[in-house]
Amino acid sequence: MSKITVAYGDGIGPEIMEATLSILKSAGAELEYDVIEIGEKVYKAGNTTGIAPEAWDSLRTNKVFLKAPITTPQGGGYKSLNVTVRKTLGLYANIRPVRSYHPVVPTKHPAMDMFIVRENEEDLYAGIEHRQTDEVYQCLKLISRPGSERIIRYAFEFAKVNGRKKVTCFTKDNIMKMTDGLFHKIYDEVGAEYPDIEKEHQIIDIGTARLADTPENFDVLVLQNLYGDILSDVAAQIAGSVGLCGSSNFGDQCAMFEAIHGSAPDIAGKDLANPSGLLQGALLMLTHLGQFDVARKIDNAWLKTLEDGIHTGDISSDKHTKQKVGTKDFAKAVVDNIGNEPTQFKKSQIGAGGAKAEIKIKVNRPKPAKKEFEGVDVFVHKAECSAGDLAAQLNKASEGTEFELEMITNRGVKVWPDGFEETFCTDHWRCRFKAGNKARHSVGQLLLNLGAESVDAIKTEGLYSFDGERGYSLGQGQ
Ligand code: NAD
Repeated sequence: MSKITVAYGDGIGPEIMEATLSILKSAGAELEYDVIEIGEKVYKAGNTTGIAPEAWDSLRTNKVFLKAPITTPQGGGYKSLNVTVRKTLGLYANIRPVRSYHPVVPTKHPAMDMFIVRENEEDLYAGIEHRQTDEVYQCLKLISRPGSERIIRYAFEFAKVNGRKKVTCFTKDNIMKMTDGLFHKIYDEVGAEYPDIEKEHQIIDIGTARLADTPENFDVLVLQNLYGDILSDVAAQIAGSVGLCGSSNFGDQCAMFEAIHGSAPDIAGKDLANPSGLLQGALLMLTHLGQFDVARKIDNAWLKTLEDGIHTGDISSDKHTKQKVGTKDFAKAVVDNIGNEPTQFKKSQIGAGGAKAEIKIKVNRPKPAKKEFEGVDVFVHKAECSAGDLAAQLNKASEGTEFELEMITNRGVKVWPDGFEETFCTDHWRCRFKAGNKARHSVGQLLLNLGAESVDAIKTEGLYSFDGERGYSLGQGQ
């Protein structure tokens, strides 16, 4: 008997969780439940994290979490609970299996059968955002070496353990040469340790186009957080429906299982939702807990129900649906089919090949590099001015210091020296001052001088080299 933590969530959450638990119970899953309250009610009771402190105790004790979708209230300083739970419990690997159920569920891609391995903690999801000027807002994209190495190693180990042949990686490193470039570099380094697995890197724009066109060519796809979030919905939808896919989130100690879709407030409380995504999440959980027989039994009953043409509205079609049902009747049909197996679909493969080795990843932390100071980027808020006038002010402020103004950019493109009058400028300027290593502790003096010149410096970024390699990007047009 395994004790797990369960959250019924918001919107369609309670309906699909009840349906899922009724199927697990009827099939004889050996589970005990500890129910926690998270989401809308907790937010509205004044807790901006959406989770009460005592709920963490349950999660940390049980270490396995079956979670229905929750609604993140818009605005008002509420943080996404999903992101908080994943990051707090260190659930760095999000695995999303996507396959088509041709011919029963309409799809243009009958042979699709892939896994998306998504990094779950970094990237733009760090949630570090600032308004810097009247016109400009910023969101920081943070990519770390250990975070990237961990997810990429996970993807290759996952492919090895599950007999998969290829690991593809998409990045946008033609533009984000440092962040996405790091991810691509680590993919190449780690991939070299897996000679039996085919490797393939693509720029994400053409990669996504190919995924949408010929998804059967993909096997395991490893992605940073935002790309993984978007592409897993694309993949699930072209496979048939976002309502059919489950997802697992793994860390070193805990695991969380859910549907990939959200709380679907548009159909909440109407007995319309497809519980299959959460049910598939629950099957991934039973597999994780080693309850293969019961997971396989449920999967076969579910496949048979789809084959029988008993469908919820999101997957129904004139051709293949014999009975359009609501959430409750769909769950009942699955329960009635327990013990039956599909005849058209391949039988469930859960547990085939015995228990899989648990994937435990160790990452190598790099030795500290020799870090040399080379200058500072000062970001300045200034409306209605020309780059030339700003440069004159900045040059005055740096007189008598070790800093020398090298360039000014606006939204990344160089506007001084030798800027073009055609370039549109906002009130947000990045002013690059170069200096030698000795000046690393003199940035404060430069800022004081800028203040004396009435220049509104809103933030600084140090410019460093690491073992002689430039650790910052050049300006566009520099
Ligand atoms: P959504 O996934 O909830 O819904 C998108 C569309 O798909 C809707 O038309 C919905 O009716 C349909 N749909 C989704 N699940 C379905 C199912 N099981 N059966 C039938 N149809 C289904 O996405 P959204 O509308 O963008 O987001 C709604 C809320 O969910 C937001 O507050 C968002 O923050 C939250 N959300 C939560 C999670 C999570 O808890 N893991 C994930 C994504 C979004």
